[in-house]
Amino acid sequence: MMTKAIAYAAQASDQPLNYFEFERRQPTATDVEIAIDYCGVCHSDLHTARGEWGGVRFPVVPGHEIVGRVLRVGAKVNNFKVGDTVGVGCMVDSCRTCACCVEGLEQYCDGGMVGTYNGVDKHLGGHTFGGYSNRIVVDQDFVLRVAPGQDLAAVAPLLCAGITTYSPLAHWRIGPQHKVGVVGLGGLGHMAVKIAKAMGAEVVLFTTSASKIADGKRLGADHVVISSDPAQMKAWTNQLHFILNTVAAPHNLDNFLALLRLDGTMTLVGAPATAHPSPNVFNLIGKRRSLAGSLIGGIKETQEMLDFCAKHNIVADIEMIAIDQINDAYERMLKSEVKYRFVIDMKTLQQK
Ligand code: NAP
Ligand code: ZN
Ligand code: ZN
Repeated sequence: MMTKAIAYAAQASDQPLNYFEFERRQPTATDVEIAIDYCGVCHSDLHTARGEWGGVRFPVVPGHEIVGRVLRVGAKVNNFKVGDTVGVGCMVDSCRTCACCVEGLEQYCDGGMVGTYNGVDKHLGGHTFGGYSNRIVVDQDFVLRVAPGQDLAAVAPLLCAGITTYSPLAHWRIGPQHKVGVVGLGGLGHMAVKIAKAMGAEVVLFTTSASKIADGKRLGADHVVISSDPAQMKAWTNQLHFILNTVAAPHNLDNFLALLRLDGTMTLVGAPATAHPSPNVFNLIGKRRSLAGSLIGGIKETQEMLDFCAKHNIVADIEMIAIDQINDAYERMLKSEVKYRFVIDMKTLQQK
């Protein structure tokens, strides 16, 4: 038995997203069925819908910043009940037995985690469909608790942009003793500024957009640097302990690596479709610098991040859109115009 779901999907990499119907499974004993209220719009949705990363299975129903209410639960679901407010992020399953999964780092599953969209659907075959839809069915172990009393639309982006920035900041143990650079003020970048500030760091925002200087400060940056201005950049040479680079396009990494002090690390979370120019090895050797990468965060850590953000009153700065504005939203995201995350109001998705 299946349940009809309605959604917006891309049918091919050169097609805009449009109305689409498909089947979701009935909840199994360990499943939670969720009515989706809000879904954030991540740059990864665009990369995937436009086939930029390769290996994409169409049709693509993007969306992995999901907040909604529990509609039904399976007989063995203990932690969630009908009516609870819950979230779903970038993963809906993993092997659960490899060393990474056992450690609670399901995003690095040796067998490959199951993405919320474009993952291999273990239940129905085919591939998974994400949150630009009216409902989703997810195993209880991959469902997050969202504390009531928050602005739920603004909580949705925490499920990807929040955890993707929280996880590396926590892993590199960022605290009040650190000067932290954040590169790019988009969905991820604006969460990184807020979270690094809440962790106590001195935060330096690097942006290509002069129009974002005031916002950067309002969001919590202690300093804002226009990254295309060599004089402003030079002033930060050898100053930073850690840099989180969220940029969605290829760019010269050396300009930022040079800002790290001895033993500093720059972690890339931005995932452009084409490669960055190779960094200069001497730039790393000369100050024992590290260049690293990081992928979202595990389920346990995602819950920790949601609780951290609730405690510190951190949500995303959002612009709410109707589902039929999604293609325009993608164009505006490409122009770095989003302030700072689009969120789809799923009430606007109606059966046709
Ligand atoms: P976004 O909202 O579009 O923000 C990206 C920001 O990068 C822009 O706002 C802009 O900031 C800056 N930027 C864009 N083009 C640039 C260019 N040519 N040169 C320099 N800066 C540029 O995107 P997002 O949703 O935050 O996602 C960012 C990237 O992270 C995407 O590639 C996405 O796929 C990836 N991602 C990775 C993970 C992970 O687990 N590692 C998770 C989610 C997303 P300024 O205007 O301030 O310069
Ligand atoms: Zn994402
Ligand atoms: Zn695994």
